[in-house]
Amino acid sequence: HPATVGQAVIPLVNRLQDIMARLDGDSAAGVELPQVAAIGGQSSGKSSVLEALVGRDFLPRGPEICTRRPLVLQLVRHSAPEEWGEFLHAPGRRFHDFEHIKREIQSETDKEAGGNKGVSEKQIRLKIFSPNVIDITLVDLPGITRVPVGDQPSDIESRIRTMIMQYIKHPSCIILAVSPANADLANSDALQLARLGDPDGSRTIGVITKLDIMDRGTDARNFLLGNVIPLKLGYVGIVNRSQEDINFNRSIKDALAFEEKFFSTLPAYHGLSQCCGVPQLAKKLNMILLKHITDMLPGLKSRINAQLVAVAKEHAAYGDAAESTAGQGVKLLNILGKYCEAFSSMVEGKNKVSTDQ
Ligand code: GDP
Ligand code: MG
Repeated sequence: HPATVGQAVIPLVNRLQDIMARLDGDSAAGVELPQVAAIGGQSSGKSSVLEALVGRDFLPRGPEICTRRPLVLQLVRHSAPEEWGEFLHAPGRRFHDFEHIKREIQSETDKEAGGNKGVSEKQIRLKIFSPNVIDITLVDLPGITRVPVGDQPSDIESRIRTMIMQYIKHPSCIILAVSPANADLANSDALQLARLGDPDGSRTIGVITKLDIMDRGTDARNFLLGNVIPLKLGYVGIVNRSQEDINFNRSIKDALAFEEKFFSTLPAYHGLSQCCGVPQLAKKLNMILLKHITDMLPGLKSRINAQLVAVAKEHAAYGDAAESTAGQGVKLLNILGKYCEAFSSMVEGKNKVSTDQ
């Protein structure tokens, strides 16, 4: 199975949600993970990057404007082996064929934004149910364009910028700033916009795509190293599928193998393995999610403690009824409290490993 977003934190998130579900029956509250939004110029490879992170083909991609409405993609983990998609606009209808999901996105896009390259800020909301994901939300956004085409209004550029800002200004949004390596990276729309949404750069990951089609004799080494535009969370270089690969239905698995070979054979990227390839991007995101989970733990723990106090009071009021429900509750909460502590040190241990790299 290819390295997908969040895979390493699946067991942690599951256990946390188990704890919170037993505690007050609301597993989601307080255990939400941040949204991840891909931004950048049109055809920079945003949809391709998100697909690679999910490990499935289902997003419209192409050389023209394809993503014309924000797609809010909620990954929902379940225990059954099947994977399917469900749209908010078609409740109850399960899409088991990911090719059908792609077509539904296209027809919903046309319905709202017209068939002639129009763009709409009205979201398409898609849930993907799978045993191989964590509960995280990815957002695929229309790319920044300059020159209006088709039915696009004359102020298309500022409209799209405003739309993107609405997503990336949220303090918990992780920004994937996607820039193609075959254009001038120092002029990247993605990095410029990310800086507006995240001025101190604490939640922006630079993603450089199309390393395979740079001008001969040039490479992105200095950029990946952060020597040109520094970013706290750094950069990851990516080789996605080309349009030809898409036309020939090349699989994600083959694409990952090609990418790995690309980075291992090009001397320019030697010694840069930690910032090259889709698996490294997934790893970087996992580390950020782990950090986020660690930051959540004190809050969750105080919620456990508050309930502990409440149940203990209730217990005292009942006198010595040895195995009352409340008594069992106290025991259970004690165990959970310890569990949470053990869990916390486990996560901290993991973070230490990451900073050593
Ligand atoms: P978006 O508009 O930013 O969502 O970009 P897409 O993911 O739709 O990709 C736009 C076009 O660029 C498609 O034809 C992709 O096949 C192609 N593309 C994306 N990433 C790469 C890459 O790393 N290398 C190559 N050769 N082509 C890519
Ligand atoms: Mg797209």
